[in-house]
Amino acid sequence: MTNKVYQNDLPDGLDLGSEVAIDCETMGLHPHRDRLCLVQLSSGDGHAHLVQIARGQTEAPNLCRLLADPNVLKLFHYGRFDIAAMLNAFGVLTAPVYCTKIASRLIRTYTDRHGLAKLLQELLSVDISKQQQSSDWGAEKLTKAQIDYAASDVLYLHRLRDALNIMLVREGRMETAQACYDFLPMRAKIDLDGWPDTDIFAHS
Ligand code: MN
Repeated sequence: MTNKVYQNDLPDGLDLGSEVAIDCETMGLHPHRDRLCLVQLSSGDGHAHLVQIARGQTEAPNLCRLLADPNVLKLFHYGRFDIAAMLNAFGVLTAPVYCTKIASRLIRTYTDRHGLAKLLQELLSVDISKQQQSSDWGAEKLTKAQIDYAASDVLYLHRLRDALNIMLVREGRMETAQACYDFLPMRAKIDLDGWPDTDIFAHS
């Protein structure tokens, strides 16, 4: 496993294929207040590509081309947050997407534990540490522990997607899941536009 760290953007000519796992690290959970610090990507080949985003940076042409590419499926775990964070930073709406958390919520109705670590443990017997989750992602130089943690958030998403899809097909929920993924980018935009906690489908 090699984790490559880049500054500001993906390098020219890097081809990550037609299904790319993506995760973001930010300064916190408020997308307007807390800036985007790191975008992690993996093609599912066991390697991670980490892009450090500078404070005030508003452009990342290679990354944004991939995010908007209609022929590249972007795999997330809780993509709602990451899509909003990258929309806020770069003005790009990521699509098409798949979200392992939505898949889990739709299919693992026997539990309310839908965190990535729990899913990887249960479905893939992979243990990842969440120790670095709350750390200073805005630091100029990331520690090895931070880099390894950030990478682990994207390295297994392809396999996790495959495992969840088997269950979704088995229980007849694939179509519902797909409709949720199709709507997810707009759901993230609605968060940013000012309705983060409102269920716009609710009666009151
Ligand atoms: Mn993460």
